[in-house]
Amino acid sequence: MIFVYEFEIAALVFMTIFLLHFLVHRQLPLMRTRLFLAYLISSMAGCAVNILSSWGCANTDKMPLWLNQALAFLFFVLETVCCYIFFWYTIQMCGGDGKWKNRMLRAGAIPVFMLAFLIFATPFTGWMYYFDEGKGYVPGVWSSLIYFSVIGYALAELIILIVNRNKIRKTNQVIMVLYSLFMMCSAGMQLYHRELLLNSITRAVVLLLIYVSMQNPGSLVDSVSDRYNELAFRIMVRDKIEHRQSFTVVYLHLYKFNHISAVIGYKNVDSLLEQVGRFFAAVGGEENTYRTQTHEFALIMPAEEAAVEKAVSAVRDRFLQKWKAGNLDLMMRVDIVTASSPEHFESISEMNALRDYLLECAKTKGTGALIMADEGLKEEYRRLNRVEQAISEAIEKDGLEVYYQPIYSMKDKKLVAAEALARLHDEALGNISPAEFIPVAEKNGTIIELGRQIFEKCCRFIADELLPRPELGIRSVHVNLSVIQCIQPDMAEEFIRIIEKYRVPPCMINLELTERMTLDATDLMRTHMKKLGEYGVRFSLDDYGTGSSNCAYLIDYSFGMVKFDKQMMDSYFANESAHIILKNEFKTLKGLGIDIVAEGIETKAQVDKLEEEDMNYIQGYYFAKPAPGQEFLRLIQAQNVQKAAY
Ligand code: C2E
Ligand code: MG
Ligand code: MG
Repeated sequence: MIFVYEFEIAALVFMTIFLLHFLVHRQLPLMRTRLFLAYLISSMAGCAVNILSSWGCANTDKMPLWLNQALAFLFFVLETVCCYIFFWYTIQMCGGDGKWKNRMLRAGAIPVFMLAFLIFATPFTGWMYYFDEGKGYVPGVWSSLIYFSVIGYALAELIILIVNRNKIRKTNQVIMVLYSLFMMCSAGMQLYHRELLLNSITRAVVLLLIYVSMQNPGSLVDSVSDRYNELAFRIMVRDKIEHRQSFTVVYLHLYKFNHISAVIGYKNVDSLLEQVGRFFAAVGGEENTYRTQTHEFALIMPAEEAAVEKAVSAVRDRFLQKWKAGNLDLMMRVDIVTASSPEHFESISEMNALRDYLLECAKTKGTGALIMADEGLKEEYRRLNRVEQAISEAIEKDGLEVYYQPIYSMKDKKLVAAEALARLHDEALGNISPAEFIPVAEKNGTIIELGRQIFEKCCRFIADELLPRPELGIRSVHVNLSVIQCIQPDMAEEFIRIIEKYRVPPCMINLELTERMTLDATDLMRTHMKKLGEYGVRFSLDDYGTGSSNCAYLIDYSFGMVKFDKQMMDSYFANESAHIILKNEFKTLKGLGIDIVAEGIETKAQVDKLEEEDMNYIQGYYFAKPAPGQEFLRLIQAQNVQKAAY
């Protein structure tokens, strides 16, 4: 038989180029990378053997029979090996647990054993091929099996891909499916045209596609720092979790790096990141260093305490020294957080959530903090998850309660307003303070719906309980707003819609914003305040002086009231300097025509002192603690109506 082996030569050239490219580029140390390399090498070997064997068959006078026989034998062996390796690669790409993979691999090995038996028996039986004196190479009775096995494996891969379609990215799926279809076509064609050697060229073409899309080292490296990127990090972590390996992730978060970037310029930033990346690679190893975010690197390390501590202390020591950015010397700080799998997380999403939590802890601890996940932190983090769940349940069942705390007017000598304060109760955690659950709801975005429900409840309370009873003398209800609510484009319209739904006079609504918000949500908030202000809603600035003190917002925004929180008031009573400063603040605010509310007032002595100060309003446990709607109404009835009647 005369074989057409030109396609094989082209395939061999192609594959040699891939192999060289593969070897000179950094590759992720993954099973699938090793399998790809094994597949590439065995395909190349099969291709080279096929060329030699085909040439030998056409030139029996130039090649000894034993060599021809050996090459034919090798060809069949390599063809079988290639099929099985790619089958393995497909299973690896689908992920899944180890048990499933092992079952599939064992099932996939059965045809290999059967083929191996036939191939090894062939020199004695001629089942797959034999050499005839006159005709040279002659296909044996079972020779077609090799093509059927290619088709069979491709079909099995196709089924595996379809069954696991949700586990593989769409583009990868398309390429793997293409591989199976191409291999089936080329093997099918060879069944009818044995002389046409097409398998290798088909493999080479699809290998090229796989290499470019799934194994491309370029897509896994961050060009600025020359470290592996976030995609590589996720692939690596997922692989380790799937293989149930123990490992520790060390996150290295460059503190306020965007501020540094803004000052030193992009050219210097790139060289700085490259230096930092190189240093981290020296600490954690080239293969284990990743740039996971603009200003964050991560090391994947074995879960050995000593090794992790050594790396962490090397990083901390280095960050006590200067870095060079162009001609500038600068100091940088790094927050370090570490967490281990399976101890602290068992999936990528758990890992990301824990990382966010630990970095948040690091932030509160101060610059250059080191937070290593442990049982205590994991417990706190679990509580956080439980709080998130409690918020979702409360939203779903409309289960959030609103308590009301009265506000006393010094001028009227009675309770004239109320602050609405959200209360969340959970079966497992009991009462959760708003100081705990509001920041959680802000972070996961549920504050928008939560805030809407609270506002609606307040409006309903005013409409059902306060408007029909003007004798109670409650002129307004204060509602706390979150910055996240204020940056919703339709916030003002939504609030006006609710106010109108319950026919509440807008002047009965007083929205409390904190100082931090005025800094975070400038333009949009100004627009909302203007719209709501023109509609008749009033605004108070809450927790005055606790954020970064800058009274520009008092000029910029139309606040009719400023509230001083408990901490401020406590220092006002306890500390002489604070007393002098706050006394002046009160005077300034009065001069601006802004009313003042003192919060957290608990004793008669404090009230008397504030009376001397000519304070406008007081809120605190001295008058009442926050209470459910009906209890609040009973208190107002007793204080404002019954007392007045005497
Ligand atoms: P805030 O708006 O400054 O509310 C005043 C806080 O001081 C309330 O705490 C109140 O119970 C407490 N307080 C009042 N008088 C006294 C007192 O004499 N002694 C003591 N020890 N505490 C007093 P609460 O209810 O735990 O709320 C904490 C914070 O949570 C609020 O501070 C507010 O910023 C936020 N918050 C509460 N409800 C909501 C809400 O519906 N939406 C939003 N966005 N935030 C809310
Ligand atoms: Mg408030
Ligand atoms: Mg306050």
